[in-house]
Amino acid sequence: MSRKKILVVEDNEDNRLILVYRLRKIGDFDILEATHGQEALDIIAATPPDLMFLDLKLPILDGWETARRIRKMEGNGPRLPIIALTAQAMAGDEEKALSAGCDDYITKPIVDASIVKEKLRKFLP
Ligand SMILES: [Mg+2]
Repeated sequence: MSRKKILVVEDNEDNRLILVYRLRKIGDFDILEATHGQEALDIIAATPPDLMFLDLKLPILDGWETARRIRKMEGNGPRLPIIALTAQAMAGDEEKALSAGCDDYITKPIVDASIVKEKLRKFLP
């Protein structure tokens, strides 16, 4: 069985490292990283992942617009599970993320690894 590809899109280095660290603890994934929305779109076009974590506040192309564009992409874009990374105390971000096409969300900071595990179980067949 080939390793599942997970794309982590997060411009804050600390947050990105924390999530990648948690993912590596959970399983042997092929982890791709991007720091802004356009980079994420380029990666998805070249190397379609099985699941992605998407920060919403990103430079160049924000997470909401990135999700909208992914849903319009050819190939597996419309079916790619997208889990938004939302900041605490930003009320309304979750609803906006879901309406932009994200499937689910996790609130940062990710202190509990079990929430990551739960989302993987739900979205990675
Ligand atoms: Mg950010």
